Amino acid sequence: MIIRVGHLYPEYLNIYADRGNIAVFTRRAAARGHELRVDPVTLDTPLEPGSHDLLYVGGGQDREQAMIAPDLAARGDTMRAAVEGGAALLAVCGGYQLLGRGYRGRDGSWLEGAGLFPHETLAGETRMIGDVLLESTLDEAPGRTIAGFENHAGRTVLDPGAKPVGRVVAGYGNDGASGFEGCRVGRAVGTYLHGPLLPRNPWLADLLLSWAVAHATGGDPEALAPLPDELEEAAHAVAAARARSRGGKPA
Ligand code: GLN
Repeated sequence: MIIRVGHLYPEYLNIYADRGNIAVFTRRAAARGHELRVDPVTLDTPLEPGSHDLLYVGGGQDREQAMIAPDLAARGDTMRAAVEGGAALLAVCGGYQLLGRGYRGRDGSWLEGAGLFPHETLAGETRMIGDVLLESTLDEAPGRTIAGFENHAGRTVLDPGAKPVGRVVAGYGNDGASGFEGCRVGRAVGTYLHGPLLPRNPWLADLLLSWAVAHATGGDPEALAPLPDELEEAAHAVAAARARSRGGKPA
């Protein structure tokens, strides 16, 4: 089967090796006999809600965010319709921020977001940097650990009732205060975690891929055949141990 991926603004939102997440999707799909077709979706590229099974938005600095924000905000209806139609989506850091209602920078400027995730982000004076360990709050994988790295000045505040991706075991998470990280709407997952995220959390890559396959077939998501993940599990353990050494509260 062909899994159609839309990679938004790859030449603008690409820091912290976020492209590595696409490489993981490609490898893990191929191991199950599926081909990943990745279309770059950049400024003014037409995008239809049903045209992709998985959408990916990476991280970027405030400067790059400002360059693509008007284009992304104008796609708000499309992004919401895509997710309501069952497409999977992964957004990291700067992309995660701009898929909310908006981002207020240190200079007071307001970047309107796409309004997919129920949150707003306000830049703080200090950056929140370091290894992070989460316990998943995703219904499909409660309590599973997610390890990654965060580096952001933005504090993201979820609306009441919004679903996070995980509970913070070590690190800052969304805002360094709520104890939660990320946001989930339907099959859309937004998170601050990069590093990149998926090589050390292969189960999360497979969950997103299973959603993309379900979108492609029109069926219900089914667990993908397991792969030998010794190296991935070892990478996860190293990152998790580094995060734990920061302690249970923000370092
Ligand atoms: N505006 C972002 C911040 O909070 C950029 C985050 C990122 O993608 N590094 O710092």
